Amino acid sequence: MNQDAALDLFRKSGALLEGHFRLSSGLHSERYLQSALVLQHPASAEALGAALAERVRHLQPTVVISPALGGIVIGQEVGRALGVRAIFAERQDGKLLLRRGFTMSPGDRAIVVEDVVTTGGSTRETIDVATAAGADVIGAAAIIDRGNDAARVGLPLFALVKLDVPTYQPDACPLCARGEPVVKPGSRI
Ligand SMILES: [Zn+2]
Repeated sequence: MNQDAALDLFRKSGALLEGHFRLSSGLHSERYLQSALVLQHPASAEALGAALAERVRHLQPTVVISPALGGIVIGQEVGRALGVRAIFAERQDGKLLLRRGFTMSPGDRAIVVEDVVTTGGSTRETIDVATAAGADVIGAAAIIDRGNDAARVGLPLFALVKLDVPTYQPDACPLCARGEPVVKPGSRI
């Protein structure tokens, strides 16, 4: 699956909107991304997971680890396609942890899988969790890489799509400056 085919799945499911949006952060953007809307369709989730698995198969991962909640569905599908375990880390009192009896061991070659990587912060935290659990973390993968600096996670980062999603303070928003009406994503456009 190439970048256009992946983006097409996002657009068709409403997971990628283009226009003029007020995000929950209060910032404005010309794109709105909500990957849960594409991943709710099992056939799309499976196809995206299989495509992402092909990008990382050469690393010979033995386990997939994802940060909850956003990474769980795609992590499961990448694990399915690779034929390896898919586990997740979740927050307790703000700290990302392995819970539910999930373990990793020194023989594990772990790949961190997420839906979208923006700053890379949750990716790096998940790498730290897996490393602390004894695994050798060999790379990271995401459906969409929203950043320009692939080195920011400290390991090879594989993505199906590179997508710039600039955000603006309302008083510096070029769409506002052109007088385009702003909408809140999720409301009827
Ligand atoms: Zn605006």
